Amino acid sequence: MQQFGLNEDQRLISDAVRTLAKEKFAPGAAQADRKYRPPVENLQVLAEHGYTGLFLPEAYGGAGLGLMDTVLVIEQLARSCANTAILFSCTDGATPRALLHLGSDAHKDRYLHRIAKGEVLTAWSMSEANAGSDVGNVQTRAVQDGDYLVLNGSKLWCTAAQVADLFLVLVRLTPAPGLAGVGAVLIDKDTPGFTVSKHLDLLGLRGTGMAELVFQDCRIPASNLLLPAGGMRQLFQVLDADRIAGNPPICLGVAEAALEHITAHLQERTQFGKPLAEQQGLQWKLADMAIDVEAARALLYRAAARVDAGEPSIVDTSITKTYVNQMAVRVTNEAMQLAGAYGLSEEYPYERHFRDVRGMSIGYGTTEIHRSSIARELLKGNYAF
Ligand SMILES: Cc1cc2nc3c(=O)[nH]c(=O)nc-3n(C[C@H](O)[C@H](O)[C@H](O)COP(=O)(O)OP(=O)(O)OC[C@H]3O[C@@H](n4cnc5c(N)ncnc54)[C@H](O)[C@@H]3O)c2cc1C
Repeated sequence: MQQFGLNEDQRLISDAVRTLAKEKFAPGAAQADRKYRPPVENLQVLAEHGYTGLFLPEAYGGAGLGLMDTVLVIEQLARSCANTAILFSCTDGATPRALLHLGSDAHKDRYLHRIAKGEVLTAWSMSEANAGSDVGNVQTRAVQDGDYLVLNGSKLWCTAAQVADLFLVLVRLTPAPGLAGVGAVLIDKDTPGFTVSKHLDLLGLRGTGMAELVFQDCRIPASNLLLPAGGMRQLFQVLDADRIAGNPPICLGVAEAALEHITAHLQERTQFGKPLAEQQGLQWKLADMAIDVEAARALLYRAAARVDAGEPSIVDTSITKTYVNQMAVRVTNEAMQLAGAYGLSEEYPYERHFRDVRGMSIGYGTTEIHRSSIARELLKGNYAF
């Protein structure tokens, strides 16, 4: 089906990734989930096909494409394997985006070519035990010691930690209160004093290698400073694109997969002498799911198109993320219900679909925090509707 708002190249990318993911990544998706194993080999396949470094400029070996292309790739990956999609969204997302826009020439030369080739996988780490929505409460400290910074503290919920080579880490650099004292540093995985510690298992997305990070007198060259204290607003601006591309397309792709599977199931399964798909009550549920998926896709593509047109909007981002997150929970939950007991069985994809999208309304800013930012802009008169 032709998608509204896409050019011919974008349709081709979307179709090609859909075919590739269906053939290569879908068969291992359930095992990645059950064995808590990041399907990192899939990222190599994507690199071989030229899909890594999508948004990086050609000068760094990237494809120089827009946010819409990233959205399309992640949507199609998630349709076959959500864990592959989230690993891709990490390594082709926040950290290289921050490096590109905020890094020095030395930072870019050191990392971006290798990221574009898929040789360096990246993660980003903000959250701590007492710093979740309240990022200004980050307590991991980086103290200057001559030409070095010495880090002490620990981080939670770092997606892709177990497979990443490079970490962007938010640290407290000065005693200034809140975000004013917070900046960001780059940490290579083998740095002495840095440990990827306890594996953290959440309800879903079990193949993302999520872990705790620990820093004990970890010395890094002062040149690894990416962002000085007080620069967080700049980082948030850069990461706004990632709130569109790094999270909602995963929800959209998984919801599409759930709708596709349950549509086939209702046509195949017979009860009371006829396929379940012939029950009008169930047809209307399918129709509501399709309406929800299409509305979410329209919002998401619109938000990405506006960024690519140089008209980003915080409200667009928050509306899109909130709606797409909640749509995916509704759609995957309904698919489980319509599949009956099969919906709850690990032999079928429905329960995994539900588990995989449930946490997405918490990561990248909770739906409550995004609602607050929509209301703030609305009440300030910054949002025309
Ligand atoms: C799947 C997943 C992947 C993640 N990946 C990463 C990662 O790669 N790197 C990383 O650093 N972190 C990651 N996180 C952590 C994520 O960023 C935090 O979970 C998120 O910021 C929320 O923080 P919290 O869990 O401490 O909840 P809290 O901030 O404690 O919030 C608890 C509840 O209170 C609500 N709440 C809090 N403050 C307000 C307020 N002012 N107004 C209204 N409601 C409020 C929240 O919405 C939430 O419902 C991930 C989380 C998930 C679920």
